[in-house]
Order: sequence, then structure tokens, then C-alpha cells
Amino acid sequence: TVDLTSIAKSFGPTKVLGGVDLSIADGEFLTLVGPSGCGKSTLIRIIAGLEAQDSGGVAIGGASVDHLRAHERRVAMVFQSYALYPHMTVGANIGLPLTMSRMTLRQRLPLLRLLSRQRREILRGIEADVGAVAAQLQLEHLLDRRPAQLSGGQRQRVALGRAMVRSPDVFLMDEPLSNLDAKLRVHMRTELAELHKRLGATFIYVTHDQIEAMTMSDRVAMMDAGDVLQLGTPSELYERPASIKVAQFIGSPA
Ligand code: ATP
Ligand code: MG
Repeated sequence: TVDLTSIAKSFGPTKVLGGVDLSIADGEFLTLVGPSGCGKSTLIRIIAGLEAQDSGGVAIGGASVDHLRAHERRVAMVFQSYALYPHMTVGANIGLPLTMSRMTLRQRLPLLRLLSRQRREILRGIEADVGAVAAQLQLEHLLDRRPAQLSGGQRQRVALGRAMVRSPDVFLMDEPLSNLDAKLRVHMRTELAELHKRLGATFIYVTHDQIEAMTMSDRVAMMDAGDVLQLGTPSELYERPASIKVAQFIGSPA
């Protein structure tokens, strides 16, 4: 579970989150929706440990993670802009979190490349893990390419692979499909839904697209001005919107 208790956050004089309470079950696909600026990205950045809340707490699996830094939490974030390194191959991009966590700074240095036997063993381990993730995402044949030589959908899969490689319990996704064209977006929806089922991990997903929200989610949290207006299954929000704002979101075209 991911348990958020009274999460509040201001940037200077601007109150961005007003005390959000939210409990997300293991393996759930929860989608955050709401108007631009309502605090969706800030909320998932706080869960990821990329931003500190002013008050309130985040617990994952029943234990507080407030004292843990981003890389120490068992979460992975997938961004809208894929944040891939252009000079690195697909394989190196996917494996980067493992390289950072398994190798010392010394072992990463090019000068020592040929020297250390230990380094070669770690590298083989990383390669195997990257290969397993790449196979799941149909990226095996692209591991030696650079991001510039990929399509938008392939880049998005590399970004997903980089999140998957650490086997996180929780995936945080901030509009991961919004840079894709309409046709690819529809295709990736299905892929993400299948991935969610296969991994059995918790997905916390942000989107502007109400079709994504209504078709992919177990539950949807509709936010407005830093608060959760309504939380429920897609059909609950559809059949019993708690306010006009909720009804408008569900009824409006993407
Ligand atoms: P969008 O749908 O446009 O992505 P959002 O719901 O993700 O919006 P946030 O990015 O969480 O919104 O931002 C919420 C509010 O906090 C906005 O008013 C934004 O300008 C402000 N904000 C976000 N990050 C910062 C920051 N680092 N410093 C100051 N203000 C910020
Ligand atoms: Mg945002």
C-alpha cells in the first residue's frame, strides 16, 4: 500500500496541496486527474521523494518513507519527457539505475575498465537484468541504438524499462503518453495496462486524458486546487459525479 496522510505543500505563498489523504492498495492502478496546476505532479514527486512535503506523511508497505531519499524508496518515476541520455545506448539508459547502485564511482571510470574482474562480473549481472527487461518490452533488437534513432513509442518503452529494471513496488507516471501521437497513445494504453497486470505492481498515474483515466484505472482521484474532490472507480465517477467539475471532466473531449 501507499498511504498518504494529510500531505500539505506550499511554494512560497502559494498553497499547492491542502492536506491530501489517499490510500492506494497493492497492485492498484490509481489515476490522478484534474485541471492544470491542481498539484498532481507535486503530489507524485512527493511520493517519489523528489520534493519534500511541508507536513503530513508518506508510507509505503506500511512503513514511513519520509526519512528516505528518492533512490532509497522502492518507487520508480516515468516522466513525460523521457529524460533519456542521448549519448548513451538504449541498453546503458535502461541499466543506468543499476550501474549507479551496484558500481562504485571508481568502477564506473573508463580508465579502470580493463582492470577489475569484479567490475566485469557486475557488468554481466547488469547486462542480464537489462536483457530481461528489454525482452518484456520488445526492445532486445534496439539495445545498441541511441535514443535519437528511436521512435517516440520506442523511447517511451526505454523510459519504462529504466523504471522497471529496479523492480520497484510502485510506479509513478506523470503523463507518460502525452508526447505521443494519437494512434501510438491508444496502442501504448493497452501496453501499459498489460504491463500493469503482468508486473502486479502499484501504478500511480497522472493524465489529462479522460479516456485513459476511465479505461485503465481501478480507481480515479479527481483533484482540484490541491485537494481530492472525489475518489472512486471509473463507473462510480461516471454514474455519480460528486460535483459539476467531476461531471465536466468525465464528459469533456480530450
Ligand atoms: P499540470 O496538469 O499542468 O501538469 P499539475 O497538476 O501537475 O499541473 P503541479 O505541477 O503540481 O500541477 O503544480 C501545482 C502548482 O504549484 C502550480 O501552480 C505550479 O505553478 C506550482 N509549482 C510547482 N512546482 C513549483 C516550484 N518548484 N516552485 C514554485 N511553484 C511551483
Ligand atoms: Mg503536472
